[in-house]
Amino acid sequence: MKCSACSNPAVYSQKYNGRNLCKEHFVDLFEQLVKDTLFNINFVNERDRIAVALSGGKDSVSLLYVLHKILANKGIEIIAITVDEGIKGYREGTMKCARKICDTLEIDQEIVSYQEYFGFDLDRAVKEGIKPCSVCGVLRKKTLNMAAKRLGATKVATGHNLDDEVQSIMMNYLKGDMQRLIRLRPKHHRPGLVPRIKPLQRIPEKEVAIYSMIMEIFEESVECPYASQSLRSDIKIMMNRLEDQLPGIKHRTQYGHERLVELYGQRYPRINLSSCRICGEPCVGDACKACEISARIINRSSEIPGS
Ligand code: SF4
Ligand code: ZN
Repeated sequence: MKCSACSNPAVYSQKYNGRNLCKEHFVDLFEQLVKDTLFNINFVNERDRIAVALSGGKDSVSLLYVLHKILANKGIEIIAITVDEGIKGYREGTMKCARKICDTLEIDQEIVSYQEYFGFDLDRAVKEGIKPCSVCGVLRKKTLNMAAKRLGATKVATGHNLDDEVQSIMMNYLKGDMQRLIRLRPKHHRPGLVPRIKPLQRIPEKEVAIYSMIMEIFEESVECPYASQSLRSDIKIMMNRLEDQLPGIKHRTQYGHERLVELYGQRYPRINLSSCRICGEPCVGDACKACEISARIINRSSEIPGS
C-alpha cells in the first residue's frame, strides 16, 4: 500500500476518504487540521494564554504536544492543568504520563483535585450512590474553570476528538434533548467563564492514537474503571461498528449537527447566567450544579456514622 501523496509506504488508510498516508503525510495532515481548527474555529491569537486540560490520556498528551509544536514559536503561552478526580488504580498512571510530557516540553503544570476543591473525591461520591460520569463532568468543568481563571488563562483547550463530539451529539439526540443538542456549539465569551476550545474536534480518536504513537509520546492506555457504566460507552461501541460498515458516518454526523445548529440555533437562545449563591461561579438558577452535588454528598456522609 503506497501513500496517496507520494510513493512511500503508507502506514494508515483513511477509509472515509479513500486516502492512504505515509508517516510524514499523516503527520502533516493531522497538524494542518489542528492549525485550521485553532485559527479558523477557535480564533486563537497571539494575546492568548492557553490552559490545556491535561489528564495524561493519549488525547490530552497529543493535544499538548501538537499545540506546543504549532504555537510555541508564535509566542503563545501554554500551561497545563491536571485534574485529579481521585480514582484509585487509574489516576496514578495517567498522572505520571501527564508529568512526563510537561517535563519533556518544559511546560508548567498545575495539579488540582476534587478533594481540594470540593472536600471529597470521585471514589467517595460513587460510594454515596452517585453516577460517576455525569458528576465527574460537572466537577471537572468547574475545577478547570476556577484553576484557569486563577492562572490567568484566556482559553481552556480540551482533548475532545471527533468520536467524543459525535458521542455527545448522539447522546442528546437519543435522549430527545433538543435544547442540549443545539447548544452543543462553540460558546461565545461569557463573564466568569474561560472560553473552552477543542482543537482535535475534527480528528477521529484512532488518528489521535496513531499520532501519539508516531511521535512516541504515549505508551500505555488505561481506561477509567467507571467508563463502561455510561451511555457514552454504549454509543461509542455502536458508532465504531457503524463506521466500519459505513466509513465516514462519524464525520457526516458531525456535519449534520453543524447544519442543525445553523438552522435551529435561533430557537434556542443562550441562557442568561447568574452567580452561584454558594461559590459565586457562573450558573443557571440559584446554585451551580457542582455545589448542589457537593451538598448532597456531604449531607449523605454526615448521616453515616463514622464516615
Ligand atoms: Fe470521570 Fe467518567 Fe471520565 Fe472516568 S470515564 S474520568 S468517571 S468522566
Ligand atoms: Zn456553586
